[in-house]
Amino acid sequence: MDYHLRCIECNKKFQNDSLYTCPSCGGLLEVAVDVSSADFKLDGKEIRVWKYSSLLPVKIKPVTLHEGGTPLYEIVSSKKTDLYVKHEGLNPSGSFKDRGMTVGISKAVELGKSMVACASTGNTSASMAMYSARAGLKAYVFLPSGKVALGKLAQAMMHGARVIAVRGNFDTALRIVREICVRKDIYLMNSVNPFRLEGQKTIAFEIVDQLGYCPEAIYVPVGNAGNISAIFKGFSELREAGYTDTIPKMIGVQAEGANPIYRAFSERKETIEPVENPETIATAIRIGSPVNARKALKAIYESGGRVIQVSDDEIVQAQKLLAKQGIGVEPASASSFAGFMKDDGEFESAVCIATGNLLKDPEEAVMVSEKPVEADPDIEVIERLL
Ligand SMILES: *Cc1c(COP(=O)(O)O)cnc(C)c1O
Ligand SMILES: [Zn+2]
Repeated sequence: MDYHLRCIECNKKFQNDSLYTCPSCGGLLEVAVDVSSADFKLDGKEIRVWKYSSLLPVKIKPVTLHEGGTPLYEIVSSKKTDLYVKHEGLNPSGSFKDRGMTVGISKAVELGKSMVACASTGNTSASMAMYSARAGLKAYVFLPSGKVALGKLAQAMMHGARVIAVRGNFDTALRIVREICVRKDIYLMNSVNPFRLEGQKTIAFEIVDQLGYCPEAIYVPVGNAGNISAIFKGFSELREAGYTDTIPKMIGVQAEGANPIYRAFSERKETIEPVENPETIATAIRIGSPVNARKALKAIYESGGRVIQVSDDEIVQAQKLLAKQGIGVEPASASSFAGFMKDDGEFESAVCIATGNLLKDPEEAVMVSEKPVEADPDIEVIERLL
């Protein structure tokens, strides 16, 4: 498949895969792919990331742990919409990051890199540690100290990454890792890396593959804003390749305490003002200065979508409602459904992306759930407790 990197600001083209941003204007890069190479069928069969390899810009045998192919659950809601939840928490490391990582780590190997790094609110580090272990690469993880959910930290540590807890928030950790990667020739695996987003665009391919049609709206939790950009790119390529006629409205959902994209959208702006001290129970989207804001805002405007903000209470309520339907997700993941519930139900069909697994943040789950009842081992006493 033919592809090149293209700057989203000045449109310059580059054939050098090791770039992250435009050498002439500093803009974000995207992978412009030749969609006429697409040779998959959207027939609902054998769904997983590498089914769509004809549109994925990797030249070697990929590093894979069988990511993608996640279930699309129909769910009950009070609105008239046919509603589905795509449970990305059922990927190998428990979040959608694996889709990006299988492509990004394959690209690292293709480029001959031996070290990779990321700043992370948790899930990127968990996924990167796992795929680096598989590929035999050295992994360096930069986390905001004390702010990472336990399950994610456990994964990064167990899969053998070198974990550096930076005294500062995610935005600070990302600024530092970008600088370190340049100094030490380490390959950067944050979503500013355009190849990661290529893997994540397969969420769009899978939705049409599984539903048999293109839904009217997609609700996506937005943190660093890579995923919503990637999913929009996926739908755009499907339309360009003639698989669908329409593109869903991309609806971003942010937490009230970490809402720079919401604020920009409310004033119909193209750029964001960073939020200085982002705060939310949904740690995966606790980001004040999203790297992919420009791409995300384009996706939202071009698709006729919007941005909704939700409170931490609304996120927890949504998480519990999903749990009641057998869908266990971490708080950030529930924000898409929380956003859907605040919306007016104008769509006939919609998909909420549930981005990560419940087990990622066990402390939050315990905190917001009913506590276990302590009892002596006495049948009579216990019978009365039921
Ligand atoms: C990474 C992540 C997000 C945010 O995705 P962005 O691409 O950074 O906007 C949301 N939810 C979960 C569970 C994540 O791991
Ligand atoms: Zn440029």
